[in-house]
Amino acid sequence: MPREITVVDGRLSVPDDPVIPFVEGDGVGPELWAAASPTLEKAARETGRNIAFKKIVAGAEAFKDKGTHLPGETLDAMRKFRASIKGPLATPVGGGIRSLNVAIRQALNLYACVRPISHVPGAPSPVLRPDLLDVVVFRENTEDVYAGIEYASGTPEARGLIEYLNAVLGNEINPKSAIGVKPMSETASKRLVRAALNLAVKKKLPSVTLVHKGNIMKYTEGAFRAWGYEVAREEFGDLTVPESEASEADAKGAGRIVIKDRIADNMFMQTLLRPAEYSVLAMPNLNGDYLSDALAAQIGGLGMAPGANLGDNVAVFEATHGTAPKYAGKDIANPTSLILSGAMMLDWLGWEDAGDMVRNAVKKTLAEGIATNDLARQTTTLKAVGTRAFGERVLKNLS
Ligand code: NAP
Repeated sequence: MPREITVVDGRLSVPDDPVIPFVEGDGVGPELWAAASPTLEKAARETGRNIAFKKIVAGAEAFKDKGTHLPGETLDAMRKFRASIKGPLATPVGGGIRSLNVAIRQALNLYACVRPISHVPGAPSPVLRPDLLDVVVFRENTEDVYAGIEYASGTPEARGLIEYLNAVLGNEINPKSAIGVKPMSETASKRLVRAALNLAVKKKLPSVTLVHKGNIMKYTEGAFRAWGYEVAREEFGDLTVPESEASEADAKGAGRIVIKDRIADNMFMQTLLRPAEYSVLAMPNLNGDYLSDALAAQIGGLGMAPGANLGDNVAVFEATHGTAPKYAGKDIANPTSLILSGAMMLDWLGWEDAGDMVRNAVKKTLAEGIATNDLARQTTTLKAVGTRAFGERVLKNLS
């Protein structure tokens, strides 16, 4: 009988046979799950464990079955079983339902979106030295312009807010504007940077860079930077040093963790031209969304980019990409991002040996010259196979 992951004295207690809920998701979600899940199950078995995956629904499937895109029992299961894995969920542009992904992150307080980005040898890249990029993005997941506080042009809410901003605070906003709000708090900013610093300490990484747009948005993004330095100084004192005070040994990665900060637009250039100088990147929500996809391009594209939404003792793992609707049902999309998100889940359970097996199986498959179309079309050396065949090859290479 599979058991639940629990928390004992504030720490995760993971049985060898945990129940783990999964959401197949919209678009390419179901075919990616079919290609990815056998590898995750086998990696667990080969390392002496057993995952009991339990299907839960969200998105179009949930709406069809239950009349709602995000049933309460889905959120309850994600909360109760502590670790879950999901496929992408569609969000219409400019109207319709609000993002289910954002709703899940907010409801479960999954405050850190963690996205490791490093190159798998053999994957194509538009840059000359993709191997120099080895970073982990920590994206704040609950605030910023993604908080969903928006009012359409001409509504009483937008008109009322604009009236206040103009009459009381002396602004000159066009009364017909739409209005969005960008909340950023000390609590949410600090817990995100704290999570980034904890990883840097645990993995002995050389630097944490705060990526912000504080030159323009001084009291939101500027405050994120100030709070980031504060948490490093106050909670990780001897272990960290601001870049301006770093010694030669610190700068070479042989001393303390160097705390850097970069303005977001510059950061896009830095990661292309000087990727080796960066390690952990901590940033607000919107910056993190943009930068994650740009970095994914350097390692072959969104088909290669895994991710996790982490809270305190609860986590939802998902690829960085969306539903890729044009590939849905066509056996073309790359399941690697989901497979590698699953490997992150195995690590989170404390099963790093199983996570490593999965990552090695992906590496071996690309080293054999086997890839899906998104990678193969960028090279003359890789052979393109479908989603299912790629998943089967990774499964075969798992040992
Ligand atoms: P997307 O689904 O990530 O797809 C953008 C492009 O990335 C695709 O057209 C394709 O590029 C490439 N791609 C993505 N996943 C791939 C895969 N597994 N294998 C191969 N190529 C892949 O982004 P979108 O088209 O902007 O968004 C579509 C829907 O997904 C929207 O409703 C959006 O809200 C939603 N979304 C959901 C999540 C989530 O669930 N967390 C995240 C992002 C977006 P090429 O066209 O160049 O082949």
